[in-house]
Amino acid sequence: MQSSGEGKYRELFELGSDGLIIHDLNGKMLDVNRIICDRLGYSREELLQMTQVEIEAPECAELVSERIFQIFADMLHVFETCHVARDGSRIPTEVCCRLIDYDGQQAVLSAARDITERKLIEIRLSESEARYRRITEGLTDYQYTVRVENGSAIQTTMSPACATVTGYMPEDFAVDPFLWITMVVPEDRELVRGQVEKILAGEDILPIEHRIIHKNGELRWISDTTILFKNESGQLLAYDGVIKDITERKQYEHLLEDKNAELERFTYTVSHDLKSPLITIQGYASVIRSDIEKGNYLRAVEDLRRIDGAAAKMTALLNDLLNLSRIGRQINVIALIDMNRLVNDALMQLEGVMAHTQAEVVVQPHLPSVLGDPVRIAEVVQNLIENAVKYSGDIGTARIEVGARQDGKDCLFFVRDNGIGIDPRYHKSIFGLFNKLDAKSEGTGVGLALVKRIIEVHGGRVWVESEGPGTGSKFCFILQGTDEGKLISGRQIS
Ligand code: ADP
Repeated sequence: MQSSGEGKYRELFELGSDGLIIHDLNGKMLDVNRIICDRLGYSREELLQMTQVEIEAPECAELVSERIFQIFADMLHVFETCHVARDGSRIPTEVCCRLIDYDGQQAVLSAARDITERKLIEIRLSESEARYRRITEGLTDYQYTVRVENGSAIQTTMSPACATVTGYMPEDFAVDPFLWITMVVPEDRELVRGQVEKILAGEDILPIEHRIIHKNGELRWISDTTILFKNESGQLLAYDGVIKDITERKQYEHLLEDKNAELERFTYTVSHDLKSPLITIQGYASVIRSDIEKGNYLRAVEDLRRIDGAAAKMTALLNDLLNLSRIGRQINVIALIDMNRLVNDALMQLEGVMAHTQAEVVVQPHLPSVLGDPVRIAEVVQNLIENAVKYSGDIGTARIEVGARQDGKDCLFFVRDNGIGIDPRYHKSIFGLFNKLDAKSEGTGVGLALVKRIIEVHGGRVWVESEGPGTGSKFCFILQGTDEGKLISGRQIS
């Protein structure tokens, strides 16, 4: 029969949800409750024949004697371990143990709590944290979190990617509390400040786009999307933001705007310039009717000649326009061009034009080779030489010079003349479609627009240098060459 004291002890021993083990200082089990028996799958009798080491996972077993020492030092010792049940299953366990007096001898009382659930949650949490870290570290966008107290921002944390977008490390933002606004370009600061004021007032806001100056001095466009965190009573506790570098998108947007504006100008100019020969045709058609009614056939023939002229002008315009519209869509194979041959070919093509002038053409020997579409570059050279001849003026013998200068990988070519020259005010506009400085001069005003388009499609640049009327002009363009401007045998085209 059990004494009443022993009965109480048993009752307490079996209470609660923790497994209880009493073992001596060698680990031999002296008493166990039902919870630990059920958990491990052993009977009480079996466990009382076993030692603590036998229910520990191999990696924890060797720590048992060390822990007993620890209990002497700490009196109460808490640690995590892993028990192994009869069927071999592993049970993550948190143990809280202390020294007790058991039947007059020192023993250890351990309360063993099954922490399988907690461990699973911990694993899932660390997996999800690792995943989050992987994602955020891989992103070029960066996140920030601002903690708010009583409507004021009290702490900001930035993700590491802020260095990619801004050039500044998260620590830089911690050291300088105003960096978030000083890095914004002055013109956009009001927008950004206004946004923050709205956020701190708890207002719902839309993403904003603004410019910042990267630590390296470059201008960057960013978008800032913010999500507010409020408590149940609607008080703002924090806000999270995602900053995205949208510089490239903005550049494309601006390019598109420029192209649209160019297209608008183009449509206007085309319809305007095509109208004038049409008006001529319409006008002379009605005059011819009255000429014929009056029997004035000679005048009718003259009027027909004018109609022919206007139609020819329109055809020339339409051909030039068609040619212009093809550039950009049609860049044939890029090849290494021998510019010496290309210039000589261009001069041969222009023999007819040159025959009427006494222009002296000097071509610099050993022109560097460039990469480009040989057909298109030939058009450029022909146009520039033809203009140099056309606008040579009445100054005796015209002299045209074709030359080049190698600048690293780039090659600068020029066509210089000693002709009528160009007022600096028109240095840009002459490259516009249909722009002519003398409305009465022959030509459609498309040539230089064509030259500009071809060079730009090749990633180059074209411009004119002239001090003004009577001083001659020098048309320059830059194209990409080869490293030393030398020809690569076998790949030479043109
Ligand atoms: P076009 O020669 O058919 O008029 P371009 O587009 O080739 O059209 O040239 C536009 C205008 O630029 C010309 O009408 C002329 O006024 C001016 N220009 C072009 N080349 C020269 C040059 N070498 N010297 C002086 N003016 C030039």
